[in-house]
Amino acid sequence: MQADTQLTQDNVLERKCLTASEDMLLAGLVGRGIQRSRTPEMHMAEASAHGIRSVYKIIDFDVFSGREPDLAEILSAAEMTGFNGLNVTYPFKIQVVPLLDQLSANAKAVGSVNTVVFRDGRRYGHNTDLWGFAESFRRGMEGAARRKVLLIGAGGAGVAVAHALADLGIENLLVFDIDPIRAARLVAQLKINRPATTTEVVDHLDAGTVSGLDGIVNATPIGMAKAPGSAFPAELLDQAMWVADIVYFPLETQLLKDARKIGCRILPGSGMAIFQASRSFELLTDRPADPERLKTTFDNFVEPGGT
Ligand code: NAD
Repeated sequence: MQADTQLTQDNVLERKCLTASEDMLLAGLVGRGIQRSRTPEMHMAEASAHGIRSVYKIIDFDVFSGREPDLAEILSAAEMTGFNGLNVTYPFKIQVVPLLDQLSANAKAVGSVNTVVFRDGRRYGHNTDLWGFAESFRRGMEGAARRKVLLIGAGGAGVAVAHALADLGIENLLVFDIDPIRAARLVAQLKINRPATTTEVVDHLDAGTVSGLDGIVNATPIGMAKAPGSAFPAELLDQAMWVADIVYFPLETQLLKDARKIGCRILPGSGMAIFQASRSFELLTDRPADPERLKTTFDNFVEPGGT
């Protein structure tokens, strides 16, 4: 397990389950509306490159016929049948936490889990979104200025990205969300978890509030194919800013298009998706993942029903 694993609960029930096989990856992605996810392809191709067989199931709560199970039942079923673990996505990343025995330091700080590992009768929860964004930024934004950065969106992913930005050495982090309670909650959380970064809520976006920014990160769903547009007004962009988006469908969002047009340095959301999968694969299999190989799988992915 990762060094950042910390004990959070000791009331472990003795569970009877099959042991995960060392030469096989048995895993799944639990969420809603995930039929088009690239995660299964990435894990299965990576497993195959390591010479291990894999079965990676999409467990989409939107397509259950008949009675919908609850999350606890899915976890128990996967654990009992010898799954190495599960990836967890919207809307279950917070809901899964009380069902686990132990959380990594990152999962504990962020308060949500996207990777569950079953081992020795215990359930370990990790948040690889945090590391995934940080690693994508380290590789794709080398030398980028880190004094003052605006994060737009303080939802599930925004919380992980905010912690990653603090770990990347951002000195002053502004947080904007159309839901001001979420922004305030995230700022309060960061003051406790990452006190070295100065954080404040921004209640609107105009030339005054964005003046002197080194960079912007979009962690809202705005820009997705199903939520087109940009959460940051194009007229407030400045060529000197770097601009990162965590939306990766489409790869180039409206925000990144606007930013590229005026010459800003840009970072697409695919990097975070690839690096979070990379760390997750390592946690599930104890084998090193190759991010370049994962990127190739991600880039070549053909959507079901697509060409
Ligand atoms: P969420 O619903 O939990 O949070 C979204 C937040 O954005 C909410 O707090 C909402 O109030 C805020 N928001 C919405 N519109 C806004 C606007 N115009 N201005 C300011 N704030 C606004 O969603 P989430 O789980 O945090 O996911 C957000 C996006 O991140 C999704 O598109 C998701 O696909 C993407 N994502 C990408 C990765 C990756 O690996 N690249 C990982 C996780 C999530």
